[in-house]
Amino acid sequence: MVRELKGERGVDARHVGIGMTSQRTRLRMVERLRDQGIRDETVLAVMAEVPRHIFIDEALASRAYDDVALPIGFGQTISAPFTVARMAELARNGRHLGRVLDIGTGCGYQAAVLGRLAREVYSVERIASLLGRARRSLRELRMTNVKLKHADGHLGLEAMAPFDAIVMAAAAPGVPEALTEQLDVGGRLVLPLGSRDQNLVVIDRTDRGLIETVLEYVNFVPLLGGTRV
Ligand code: SAH
Repeated sequence: MVRELKGERGVDARHVGIGMTSQRTRLRMVERLRDQGIRDETVLAVMAEVPRHIFIDEALASRAYDDVALPIGFGQTISAPFTVARMAELARNGRHLGRVLDIGTGCGYQAAVLGRLAREVYSVERIASLLGRARRSLRELRMTNVKLKHADGHLGLEAMAPFDAIVMAAAAPGVPEALTEQLDVGGRLVLPLGSRDQNLVVIDRTDRGLIETVLEYVNFVPLLGGTRV
């Protein structure tokens, strides 16, 4: 196996991973997530599969499976594995997902995890330079059901609405109105709300209106306005 990896430096070699980026390291991460309270076995199985290290700068790859947020450039971070698992578990809510909107692509890892849990994922990011890298990583995993777009997530993605789930990876002081409007009936929005103190919040769109549930304290980067290169 190792010889094969050395001889072949192409696309398939890197995502297999060795040592700190191996399948075994990934399984240990999943064990920790289970211990920390993630209950959705479908989410855990997907996280055991998706190579997180390819979304991170090679210099940091050995820490890819630690339970920490890591820098991805432009002052942004890849969310810690627990955060990604928790958001995915809440978004899924035990269902198989059809169309999902992911706001704040960053390096694309959350989008990839959602891509294995949903029929199709649209992911929007305001920093164009991050999108280029995310696109390469997703292509490496041949995740053709994940589509990326350079846009301000405050607006959601009207053209592709309605969504079964919307997951936001940046915190806003209030719920952007477009997002609840773009939820399908039975759909669910998962987002961090607040500026100094943030909580994870779930908003379900039912046929009788919106139901908001406030969950644990969290710590996300802020949702910023507009787009940039
Ligand atoms: N989903 C990522 C997390 C990235 S951090 C992961 O898998 O790790 C949050 C991201 O949200 C950053 O890349 C930031 O640039 C982006 N962001 C912030 N405000 C935004 C906005 N208004 N629209 C789209 N993306 C935004």
